[in-house]
Amino acid sequence: MRVVETCAEMMALCREVPRPLGLVPTMGALHEGHLSLTRQARLDNATMAASIFVNPTQFGPNEDFTTYPRSMERDLELLEAQGTDLVFAPLPPEVYPDGFDTYIEPGAVAEGMEGASRPGHFRGVATVVAKLFTITRPDRAYFGQKDGQQVAVIRKMNADLNLGVDVVTMPTIREPDGLAMSSRNAYLTEEERAAAPVVHRALCAAESLWNAGERDAGRLRTAALALLRQEPLVSGVDYVSVVDAETMAPVGFAPAGRRVMIAAAARLGSVRLIDNVVVG
Ligand code: AMP
Repeated sequence: MRVVETCAEMMALCREVPRPLGLVPTMGALHEGHLSLTRQARLDNATMAASIFVNPTQFGPNEDFTTYPRSMERDLELLEAQGTDLVFAPLPPEVYPDGFDTYIEPGAVAEGMEGASRPGHFRGVATVVAKLFTITRPDRAYFGQKDGQQVAVIRKMNADLNLGVDVVTMPTIREPDGLAMSSRNAYLTEEERAAAPVVHRALCAAESLWNAGERDAGRLRTAALALLRQEPLVSGVDYVSVVDAETMAPVGFAPAGRRVMIAAAARLGSVRLIDNVVVG
């Protein structure tokens, strides 16, 4: 496994390696969610590359960039055990040198939900993913459904800009109690951790209604919100949204034959958790 810290060296190596090349972008602090992506990428490709980069441009000024969990040594051990060929682990000035001044601005797909709650977030995500795609030129890139709107933003950018990458979406990996795995779960106190599965339970309540034939987005949202509001440790709900699974456009009454994503962002104390289920 080669660990590379500069864009120039990563570009040069990626031009030489056997194809197809699969890329798994991450911010590190790896868990089973990430490893499900690297496992699939390993199976599908002659060369498997992962990136570890806590991307400053996708964090807001009052967000957790400086405190985001970092565990480079352990991450490298895990990636090595997964049979990773290349790890791209640059520092911020390597990706954003002095004078860096070009960004990708996603459109309507990035407007609601995370885009509304975290202004500029998807501009940072799209910009760094475009850079990672350009540096590595992967045949395939792997993303988790856990961040459902993020995958939609990346798919749209990939299509609109003819980046030509096969974007693979992998299912959300959960703890046994339903909590979606996330590096940020490490911030939860013991009590918050015990309460955290309520986010998934709330989405499952909406999903059950859907399975019983309910197509009114308002009723699906109300069912999920009711559960979230019952949990005293939930300190805020940023949104519960019912959207088209591809365009992220809000759905009023779910049209037949469309896949729909029911997504939520809730705070437990100071920790913000997101999750979603896809129905239809
Ligand atoms: P992150 O390091 O949080 O930026 O995540 C890197 C990639 O792993 C993204 O494509 C995430 O969607 C994906 N990911 C994170 N958590 C999970 C999970 N619980 N299940 C599946 N994929 C995940």
